[in-house]
Amino acid sequence: MKLNTKNLSQLPERVQRPLYDRKQVKQGIVHIGVGGFHRAHQAIYTEMLLNRGKASEWGICGVGLRSEDRAMQEALASQDYLYTLYELGDSDNSQIQVVGVLGDFLLAEDGSEALIRKLADPETRIVSLTITEGGYCTDDSSGQFNADLPQIRHDLANPQQPKTVFGFLTEALARRRAAGVKPFTVMSCDNLPHNGQVARNALLSFAKLRDVGLHDWIASNVSFPNAMVDRITPMTSDAHRSQLLEETGIEDAWPVVAEPFLQWVVEDNFCNGRPSWEEVGVQFTDDVTPYEEMKIRLLNGSHMAMAYLGALLGHRYAHEAMQDAQLLEFVRAYMDRDVTPLLAEVPGIDLENYKDTLIERFSNTAICDQISRLCSDGSSKLPKFVLPSLLGQIEAGVDMRRTTLILAAWCHYLRGLDERGATYPILDPRAASLQETAGLKERLVESFLGLEDVFGHKIPASATCVATFRLQLGRLQELGVRATLELTMAEEV
Ligand code: NAD
Repeated sequence: MKLNTKNLSQLPERVQRPLYDRKQVKQGIVHIGVGGFHRAHQAIYTEMLLNRGKASEWGICGVGLRSEDRAMQEALASQDYLYTLYELGDSDNSQIQVVGVLGDFLLAEDGSEALIRKLADPETRIVSLTITEGGYCTDDSSGQFNADLPQIRHDLANPQQPKTVFGFLTEALARRRAAGVKPFTVMSCDNLPHNGQVARNALLSFAKLRDVGLHDWIASNVSFPNAMVDRITPMTSDAHRSQLLEETGIEDAWPVVAEPFLQWVVEDNFCNGRPSWEEVGVQFTDDVTPYEEMKIRLLNGSHMAMAYLGALLGHRYAHEAMQDAQLLEFVRAYMDRDVTPLLAEVPGIDLENYKDTLIERFSNTAICDQISRLCSDGSSKLPKFVLPSLLGQIEAGVDMRRTTLILAAWCHYLRGLDERGATYPILDPRAASLQETAGLKERLVESFLGLEDVFGHKIPASATCVATFRLQLGRLQELGVRATLELTMAEEV
């Protein structure tokens, strides 16, 4: 049965469905970057409120800024913007839910003016973002916005026909300011340390280049809450689609698959109102820092620890990597000995228990989270997920064999060839230049760690760090992953 409004009443009983009148819901939120994660996380919290008869002014209008978003837009439009959340866990209490909170989906390609108007509309009170870690055009080591990128230069020269998120938000805020309309909150839900601050710095840097008065107005009036977001959301595969069809009879062009776990800790800093998300489990706090450091360094950092070594060994899914005793031991040691000692205390969280839960979540066999997804965009992810721990270790003068092994594994992985002889594509906007560097026969270590936009200055400047990286890379090249892991774990300090 094709998923659409007409067929909602025929869904099998075990499938939850919207319990409210979708026609009565206003779109107070515009979300840019409607991938899997937004549909499994923020949209679900809002759906929970709608199902309780609340938040009727906080429906969501999706937005895609890239041509790749057309496929998702068309899939969702063909089913009245309904989609299925297909929870997959190892216990049998997973839920299947048809979600109605998304009311529309605009593509920038179909007309920038319509999108600017939507953003400038007083009904829009929050603009949320999942535009990936690399989407903020910010240098990780300096924190500087990169205004020289061609797309940024384009948007500064063509403020009425922007292409980037910064161009659209700035033009919409300019119109709101001119019309005396309150601004919207800009809420990043990307996995970045201090995601709100990064979004603020990027938007203000862009706005300053356009109009200093507008910059000052945004700085004083727009809020950018920091948030820690968590729910493992793999890419939807055809196998997931068929499994859903088989289990429920629902023909959904693009369901979203996620683990049962979800968590969101947000700073309560919204300049134009917000849904009462606290009623459905969102934790509001004054300072998100300890939560985001814990989550990004332990969860996302451990994903990096398993991903590149796992890919080199030929594993395809996260649970396969966790069933590999050597990798499991390595990942847990990385969590316990490298990340945990550098974390601040996290209010209300027992870190041992948190790490046990992470291992359990990574081991979820039902969800089939792709190692290739975890490996993607390493040049944006490693500086946020792993390098903060490495920099802490350099400063503390402690052993960094495991942490440098993650970087060495990435370098070795960039050859595009696993230890079973299979090839794979490198999914990273900088793939070509990274592969060129990783393929150098001479001065590889210096050239690789010298990639300043990835590693910054401090890492190549640490002689111990460079030497340990050299040792680990040499072992991977000469002895392979298993022997390297064995040696590394045997000489644990
Ligand atoms: P996805 O690939 O399904 O979707 C990514 C979306 O971002 C697409 O709509 C794409 O068009 C858009 N996008 C990418 N670069 C952009 C840019 N420069 N400007 C504007 N839009 C851009 O990925 P996803 O699983 O939805 O994850 C998106 C982000 O959500 C991640 O990068 C991460 O920061 C965060 N997140 C994901 C998960 C997860 O498990 N998938 C968990 C926590 C947080």
